[in-house]
Amino acid sequence: MNSESPREACGLFGVYGIPDAAGLIYQGLFALQHRGQEGAGMVVSDGQKVRSQKALGLVSEVFAMTDLAELPGHLGIGHVRYSTTGSSRPQNVQPLVAECIDGIWAIAHNGNLTNARSLRQMYQEAGAIFQTSTDSEVLTHLLADPMYRARPRRVSRALNELKGSFAFLLMTKNCVMAARDPLGFKPLCIGRKGDGVVFASETCALAQIGAEYVRDVAPGELVVADETGLHSSLFSEPVPGKCSQCVFELVYFARPDSMIFGESVHAARCALGRRLAGEHPIQADVIVPVPDSGNSAALGFSQQSGIPMNYGFIRNHYVGRTFIMPEASKRSGSVDMKLAVVPDVVKGKRVVIVDDSIIRGNTSKRRVAWLRKAGALEVHLRIASPPAMHPCFFGIDFPTKEELIASQRNVEAIRDYLGADSLGYISLEGLLSPFRSKVDYCTACFSGDYPVDISRVQGKQALEDYSPMLNLDGAVKTSK
Ligand code: SF4
Repeated sequence: MNSESPREACGLFGVYGIPDAAGLIYQGLFALQHRGQEGAGMVVSDGQKVRSQKALGLVSEVFAMTDLAELPGHLGIGHVRYSTTGSSRPQNVQPLVAECIDGIWAIAHNGNLTNARSLRQMYQEAGAIFQTSTDSEVLTHLLADPMYRARPRRVSRALNELKGSFAFLLMTKNCVMAARDPLGFKPLCIGRKGDGVVFASETCALAQIGAEYVRDVAPGELVVADETGLHSSLFSEPVPGKCSQCVFELVYFARPDSMIFGESVHAARCALGRRLAGEHPIQADVIVPVPDSGNSAALGFSQQSGIPMNYGFIRNHYVGRTFIMPEASKRSGSVDMKLAVVPDVVKGKRVVIVDDSIIRGNTSKRRVAWLRKAGALEVHLRIASPPAMHPCFFGIDFPTKEELIASQRNVEAIRDYLGADSLGYISLEGLLSPFRSKVDYCTACFSGDYPVDISRVQGKQALEDYSPMLNLDGAVKTSK
């Protein structure tokens, strides 16, 4: 993946019915760190008291062992954040905690609520005070709203008011809930560890704590784990043929050792690489993956083409995933530190770079130049997703349409800009070819075929002007 590429939103992890929930959540969030590096937090309950800790930073920076000892309990939820709505500041770090008249609610969200602004405005006009500039906070107001609080199936009714993409973990002092939006944009799965229940954005986090994968939370489903067991209900009836799981999760975001939407991420990427080799064959000496997310597709390309794969790029693991830093200045400042060329692998060779996507094009251009400087005879680019021409409004922090190189140029013009000898993208049909279902995916950033109306969708900073007083520094630490 290019460091210029779209960024992920967040990772969720929750447990119910397991001693030392905080220790498990720490491990689970650690496994999900690739999904967000701006902030981390957890809320834990022993059935009586709810305690939370959260701050800007990596999981390992936010939590010390002494902090975990101060978070006793057998249930809890955790979150790693990359901001797609609301800026990077302490108040926006999740889980959000709200004290309603009937007790504490904590929520952790992955996605983008496309009607958050109108809901926020409605509550603010009625006198409500918001503490953050995130879209997620509107759910706490819906849960506290007497209109919903007094009715049965309160959480389902509140979730039904939300539009856009979401996977939510919710918590009270004695139960944990998990929900996915009716179109299923975001991944969320259920696992078992002993008698306890685990929820996670990706199965790699289940494996991290030795939990067994049970199934995905279904689109439109609310799952509740409490002392009476595990309960499932639909807050929204599924619409046949209307499922929009984010295909970019499989192309790039998820860890290759995860299962996402019932598919092995590594196997899917290998299959994409094989398909890409069939669609865009090339005579060359070596396949060079862009680590890490290009590795599996490069392996597939090598298997299909018979061209050996070798590690022509080495990643510096001590530089953060630059794509995940929200500000362009941070990205451009650290991009050249992330990868280095191994000259022996490419010198005097015809090289094929295999990557998962090209977004702006500036990073790919730089890498092509590096290989030429290191002595490559030819540099060819093969991309395991179609040209990205349209922004995402569903919780992935894409650049604007104008910044997407494929929205401004055709493939030949992109090749020319990048300075490559050839350029081949997998087709849209090829992108869906490895998956059991060819219709249950959102492909809008490639096809422009948005699964929901986007005409009134706001950008990442849309809620900032609603909360100008929140520019405070420092960690948020609460104990209830
Ligand atoms: S537009 Fe692209 S990145 Fe956004 S949800 Fe759809 S497939 Fe995923």
